[in-house]
Amino acid sequence: MNARYQAVQSISDNTPIRGGIVDYQSEKFSELYASYVFHEEIQRERLPSKVFKSLQNTIKTGDGLDPEVAETVAMAMRDWALEHGATHYSHWFQPLTGSTAEKHDCFLTPHDGLHALARFSGNELIRGESDASSFPSGGLRATFEARGYTAWDPSSPAFILKNPNGATLVIPTMFVSWTGESLDQKTPMLRSLGVLNHHAMRVLRLLGNTTAQRVECTLGVEQEYFLVDRRLAMLRPDLMIAGRTLFGARPPKGQELDDNYFGAIPERVLAFMTEVEHELILLGVPIKTRHNEVAPGQYELAPTFETTNLALDHQMLVMQLLQQVAQRHGFLCILHEKPFAGVNGSGKHNNWSIGTDDGENLLEPGETPESNAVFLIFCAAVCRAVHKYSALLRFSVASPGNDFRLGASEAPPAIMSIHLGNVLTDIFNLLLEESDAGSNQRAASKKSKKSEKSAQTLAPAPAPLHIGLPMLLRLPRHSGDRNRTSPFAFTGNKFEFRAVGSSQNSAGAVTVLNTIVAESLDFIATRLEEARKSEGDFNAAVRHLLVEMIEEFKPILFDGDNYSMAWLEESHRRGLPNLRNTVDCLPVLTSSDSVELFQKYRVYTEGELHGRQEILAEIYCTTILIEANAMLRIARTMILPAVLRHKSRVQGALTTETQKDFLVQYDEKIDLLLRAIDELNVRLSKIKSDWALLKKAEFFRDSIQSAMFALRVVADKLESMTDDAVWPLPTYSEMLFLR
Ligand code: ADP
Ligand code: MG
Repeated sequence: MNARYQAVQSISDNTPIRGGIVDYQSEKFSELYASYVFHEEIQRERLPSKVFKSLQNTIKTGDGLDPEVAETVAMAMRDWALEHGATHYSHWFQPLTGSTAEKHDCFLTPHDGLHALARFSGNELIRGESDASSFPSGGLRATFEARGYTAWDPSSPAFILKNPNGATLVIPTMFVSWTGESLDQKTPMLRSLGVLNHHAMRVLRLLGNTTAQRVECTLGVEQEYFLVDRRLAMLRPDLMIAGRTLFGARPPKGQELDDNYFGAIPERVLAFMTEVEHELILLGVPIKTRHNEVAPGQYELAPTFETTNLALDHQMLVMQLLQQVAQRHGFLCILHEKPFAGVNGSGKHNNWSIGTDDGENLLEPGETPESNAVFLIFCAAVCRAVHKYSALLRFSVASPGNDFRLGASEAPPAIMSIHLGNVLTDIFNLLLEESDAGSNQRAASKKSKKSEKSAQTLAPAPAPLHIGLPMLLRLPRHSGDRNRTSPFAFTGNKFEFRAVGSSQNSAGAVTVLNTIVAESLDFIATRLEEARKSEGDFNAAVRHLLVEMIEEFKPILFDGDNYSMAWLEESHRRGLPNLRNTVDCLPVLTSSDSVELFQKYRVYTEGELHGRQEILAEIYCTTILIEANAMLRIARTMILPAVLRHKSRVQGALTTETQKDFLVQYDEKIDLLLRAIDELNVRLSKIKSDWALLKKAEFFRDSIQSAMFALRVVADKLESMTDDAVWPLPTYSEMLFLR
């Protein structure tokens, strides 16, 4: 029996796989929450009150921390960690590889030759030195200056990660170069939160809010993933190396019947999910929802939203734990955006909103959205930002894996647009209509009363309660009109950015979103400050500004089917960019608009932007190179031998002309396979190391990817013509349905 059949046999025998056992009858579910986190309450308990207050102040305001305070915090953290069985501490950061990185240091320090002491100083807590040369920097860090630093981020609490033989105290950090440039995802994201807070507060004060002290972004990230039995996955070098299948004929049944979504979760999968959630609960990740997704073998996990920095760190933990726990349960957890051709890909919906520190969600429409100036202004700010910087937003989700979703008329498309839903659409339309009517009236009165022209500068606006419209709308809230095809949708009291890829660190997208919204709020605040000074009717000025913005961003609004050809044409007419793949996106980051934006708000320096562009191009080329090499290896060492074995077996058995015809066709396919292998090989050999990165990336996209595609087509055809018993690669049906 071949290895593939043995794997299938072992799955059907139900060979038990020992995942961890979770027993909520003996463990109190509610008492577990965050018990591995050095959170505010633990801090209060274990720190002298002066130190606690000083630390909380740093967390809330971002002000620097007194070294003495750090010393005391470090000691308390160490004691707490030792009680939890920790032997090591680790500065945990998010380099530009997309995943997390950690370096562990033992608490023990030799003391006098006979003894060792558990030490952890304030300095060790605050700063770590890390060899930056092992991480991508995009030329920011010259090779002669390889030092990089990790710097404690006190706003995300330290936590304990257990392993079967111990535990580590994990300290969330930023990662910066010797010269202070960011080498990670967290640092610019924190900067973007700062500017957003600043300009949002300006707007809030202008609109009469006197109570809020800070504005915070909130984020809830839904994570989609696939599970494949490891016994099958291990027989797929493509899954192991590239995280996606590079070959595989379409299965007779895929997701056509839509019988999977919200169906009963298979028991084995549920056991896995329960253990993932158990670990996440201990780490204080507020896990909320779990369900099957659209494709067979695809699932989703979603937390309750949190403040952004915390939500992003927790999101990284979610990805890490999904993969770790899957292994214990005999699964491979696949986070790739498109592991199976012809089957739905995986995304990461980023639910994003802005709220005040006293608990008000600024995107909450309330009972009378039409007169809720704060709500309308903040919504308009987001729409204006997405319209003005749609290419940049598209860039923020570009990756070789995500290209297969966004560029391939799958949810969601590469063209950025906003779905507003009924409530906002109606209000925006009314505002426009009313302003049209107003301006027509004014125009008419100008014509008839030419002589009075000078007396009539400001048309008297109706005196509204807030900026109430003449007609009071009574619309059902949360009207449920979800548009699943939209990349950016208003969903009741938040925006949902759906274009982020399942394997990406959301921080990149969030940084861009925060910055472009901050730019809009800056624009709005500046205009409203002028209006305040000019002693005109302030409410009318707010309304006028809204109308002006709606006119401007109208082209980005689209409620129809985002996958349709009609939208492709329509969006083109509206002048919206359609950046279909990563290579198309590359120039966006260093365009003069982007450089100006990020420099103005000090989120990225120009050097950081160039660095990040270079890293993305590098990742793009390397990813495709690895995939191409894996394809060649699999085609030559697995597919070709199987095909030849099949040919030699059937050759002698074919007697009639029809049967011999089959062999002729089969032979033709083998020739095509050999030629396709050859072609891919030849094209790879054309790549020159001295090519500019952009040229290289274009070549990978245009020449290498098409040769890979051609090779796959013929190999998949052969799969469907070859004796199943000699085919070495687990099939799509097996991977998607057996568990
Ligand atoms: P829906 O049913 O529209 O998907 P849910 O309430 O289930 O809405 O929320 C989906 C995700 O959005 C969850 O992760 C949730 O925590 C998050 N979310 C809800 N409100 C907010 C908010 N104000 N800011 C950020 N995320 C939010
Ligand atoms: Mg969603």
